[in-house]
Amino acid sequence: MFDALSDRLGNTFDRLRGRGALREQDVRDAMREVRIALLEADVALPVARDFIEKVTEKAIGESVLKSVTPGQQVVKIVNDELVAMLGGSDSEDGHVPLTLEAKPPVVIMMVGLQGSGKTTSTAKLGKLIREKHGKKAMMASLDVNRPAAQEQLAVLGEQAQVDTLPIVEGQQPVEIAKRALESAKLRNVDVVLLDTAGRLHVDEALMAEMKAVASVATPTEVLLVVDSLTGQDAVNVAQSFSDEVPLTGVILTRMDGDARGGAALSMRAVTGKPIKFAGVGEKLDALEAFHPRRVAERILGMGDVVSLVEKAAESIKVEEAELLAKRMAKGQFDLNDLRMQLKQMQSMGGLGMLAGMMPGMKKAKAAMQASGMDDKVLVHMDAIMGSMTAKERANPALLNAKRKKRVAAGSGTQVQDVNKVLKMHQEMSRAMKQIKKMGGMKGLAAMLG
Ligand code: GDP
Repeated sequence: MFDALSDRLGNTFDRLRGRGALREQDVRDAMREVRIALLEADVALPVARDFIEKVTEKAIGESVLKSVTPGQQVVKIVNDELVAMLGGSDSEDGHVPLTLEAKPPVVIMMVGLQGSGKTTSTAKLGKLIREKHGKKAMMASLDVNRPAAQEQLAVLGEQAQVDTLPIVEGQQPVEIAKRALESAKLRNVDVVLLDTAGRLHVDEALMAEMKAVASVATPTEVLLVVDSLTGQDAVNVAQSFSDEVPLTGVILTRMDGDARGGAALSMRAVTGKPIKFAGVGEKLDALEAFHPRRVAERILGMGDVVSLVEKAAESIKVEEAELLAKRMAKGQFDLNDLRMQLKQMQSMGGLGMLAGMMPGMKKAKAAMQASGMDDKVLVHMDAIMGSMTAKERANPALLNAKRKKRVAAGSGTQVQDVNKVLKMHQEMSRAMKQIKKMGGMKGLAAMLG
């Protein structure tokens, strides 16, 4: 996700940052490139145009152009506008949470086209509400068009350990919604999730049904589920739904695929509503809170260090993650840190998962793939670093030709493999210094105290 966009913007901004002074024309040239990059990523045209206008207006001000670090200031402006474009709130990471604190049963209505991932997302959300919010959830499928849709939700409900409303043959959506609410009241359910029917296309009958259900169920949340892989279509679908039903947010699915990102970047502008969650896989725990600030940083190639540290903290010792994050925030990063990081990576699902999340990882991964390496390489790298002394890891400059030979022999690899590890370390270390310079780790440092 966002890879191509991220690469293009990265090139543009590297050039901009590399200059000491900026003229208005430099900014305008860069913005032309940004515009093309956005359009190529499938961002809706008016959204891209509006974005460029806003950034340009702010960036060509005297205070920016005459500042000591004009290039970085421009990138900062782009970053802030990206966050706004992604629907960021004022909270630290920009996430807009679910509203669950109304009088129970709180109703969440899920809407969207068939195949968008609506039923799966309903079950994911039910699981999340049970596990993360500690609330009693219940799900009901109102999809009477698609055969077996109700059974599908029942099966997912079992996996998610969330109750589903018993199926009564022949009932219509509005009746099912009413029954779901009654049942929820009787059983002291906190949150009811209504999985409404999908269609292959937006049509009048569908919209009429959504409105009828909304009027009896008075939902607190109406979440539109859209498939990020459908690009411009996703934007059109979102437009149609938001014209007809009072959406409160968006769930963007298949963010684990290689969508170009246009849907994510256009959604807020088109619907006026924030993306609240991202679907990142088929499993029921593959639903992530959407954090505009982190996504913007990822797009700008600063790496999603906060997510990374959080994920790491889930799977490894918290103290280790904190120590590492603090050192990274200071721009310190030796081979001992890299080794620790690789261990965490392995426990987090390997390279694919990490690419793009960590500064420098994307390049490192590409370089490794180009030379025919894969996840197995993590094991090799660990062996290589394990054959170094702690001193060598703390100060890789010690590794002269003779020592490298020893390390290669000790780990059953070649000197060139040792060099690859050192190169990867250098890339990551450089990326981290860059982040530090840009002040991008402020939030992280504050968070970790
Ligand atoms: P619905 O017709 O909108 O209810 O769609 P489903 O929930 O049945 O999902 C259709 C297919 O997409 C299923 O095979 C899901 O497992 C898959 N799916 C849903 N969300 C995601 C996601 O975020 N990532 C991936 N990779 N697959 C997903």
